[in-house]
Amino acid sequence: MTEPPVHVVRRIETFAALKRACTKVARGAAVYSPTTREIYGIGVNGPPSPLECGRSGACEKICGKVAEHAEARALWSAYRTLGPLAAAEPVGTASGVLLGMGLQLVHVKLGDQNRIVGSRGPRCVECARLILETKIVTHVWLHELMLVPDTSPELAGSGVLVESTRWHSYTPLEFFRRSCVARGIHL
Ligand SMILES: [Zn+2]
Ligand SMILES: [Zn+2]
Repeated sequence: MTEPPVHVVRRIETFAALKRACTKVARGAAVYSPTTREIYGIGVNGPPSPLECGRSGACEKICGKVAEHAEARALWSAYRTLGPLAAAEPVGTASGVLLGMGLQLVHVKLGDQNRIVGSRGPRCVECARLILETKIVTHVWLHELMLVPDTSPELAGSGVLVESTRWHSYTPLEFFRRSCVARGIHL
């Protein structure tokens, strides 16, 4: 697979419009099963419920310090829905072994009208740590900004770079390592 299912991305966008993701850094995330195509967890950036983003001025001052991140909320939401079944790998229970669901996480930055836009690469160590530690998902999808050679007729071959976006899939360990490097932490 080179990208997550479109219906998962569209659901994040509609959920963000409904829940009004924090204005400062609007991001959304969802946990889904590539097998059943079901979405089991979803979330947007914002202060923990029942608090809400104060929008504008209050948001600028406060949300950066108190907002829970979309990835963490999507993971918690999947865990509330599935309980012990929300495991990337097979898990043992008193009555036997439940199969891990091989869930995946999609994380996107949202722009105008809560539409998906490209984001920078992995850089949140706290969320990467949670993703790795909870063992709920096997992969993390991130819609990333990148620079590619301009291929327009006037500029092809000139070496001029333009912004583009692409989906990137990471294992939780890769995602954690990349986030650490982005923050100057070399493991
Ligand atoms: Zn806010
Ligand atoms: Zn985070």
